[in-house]
Amino acid sequence: MKTETTIQGLSASLNPARASRKIIGFVPTMGNLHEGHLNLVREARKLCDVVVVSIFVNPIQFGPNEDFDNYPRTLEQDSHLLAEVGCDIVFAPSVEQMYGHQPRLTNISVAEITNDLCGLQRPGHFDGVAVVVTKLFNIVQPNYAFFGQKDYQQLAVIKQLVRDLNMPIDVIGVPITRAADGLALSSRNGYLSEQDRKTAPTIYKTLKLAEENLQKGQNLSDVLVQIRADLTAAGFEVDYVEARTPMLQKIDQFDQDVVLFVAAKLGKTRLIDNLQIKHSS
Ligand code: AMP
Repeated sequence: MKTETTIQGLSASLNPARASRKIIGFVPTMGNLHEGHLNLVREARKLCDVVVVSIFVNPIQFGPNEDFDNYPRTLEQDSHLLAEVGCDIVFAPSVEQMYGHQPRLTNISVAEITNDLCGLQRPGHFDGVAVVVTKLFNIVQPNYAFFGQKDYQQLAVIKQLVRDLNMPIDVIGVPITRAADGLALSSRNGYLSEQDRKTAPTIYKTLKLAEENLQKGQNLSDVLVQIRADLTAAGFEVDYVEARTPMLQKIDQFDQDVVLFVAAKLGKTRLIDNLQIKHSS
């Protein structure tokens, strides 16, 4: 496995693969890798000849009071894990390498689907994601790019971006990887106190209970109220509990497939999760 820290170095490493028309798979990450990330790499390994993983904590997708400075940076440990799952190239650029010293005058804004859910509490977040992903796509020029359904809204934004701007890339969504107790794996889980880590799986439990209740015929708005109440009772500060269609349109009845979304804080740690529920008709 090679590690490249510059755009030039990465191009030099990828040029032979490009010349021989190898299929290039790309997994963008912010590092501090866990099984969720590694499953994206395993998916890429199955479909592609060359697998590139980027590790870059992107400053422009963090708000002023968010955790950019404290975000865990564990490149050495990440490299070992990536070598084990068959990654070919790690691209770990500096902020300078990605953004240079000239002011950036171009923004990329995906409208509508970024207006609510995480877009409400994190203004500018998805613009930051769209810009860095576009830059990384231009740098890596992959055939396939792999994103987790854990960040469902982000995945929808990237799919829209690729479609709207005719980027020649297939975006693959990979299901959420969970801990044995149901908690969706996340680099931010490491911020949780021992006690909060025990409480955190309540999010998934409330989502699964909601699924059961919907399938028993309970009304969607009551189910959402119940999730919020259960999380609040467990000690969460709820940011949102929402239902959307798989394309992120508003929905008020369970008369088609639905995705339930939760964002909630335990102490200072903001956790997100979602559950896709099929409508049997
Ligand atoms: P991050 O490093 O948090 O930016 O995540 C990099 C990629 O890994 C994103 O596409 C995430 O959606 C994905 N990812 C993170 N956690 C999980 C998980 N538990 N299951 C599936 N994908 C995940």
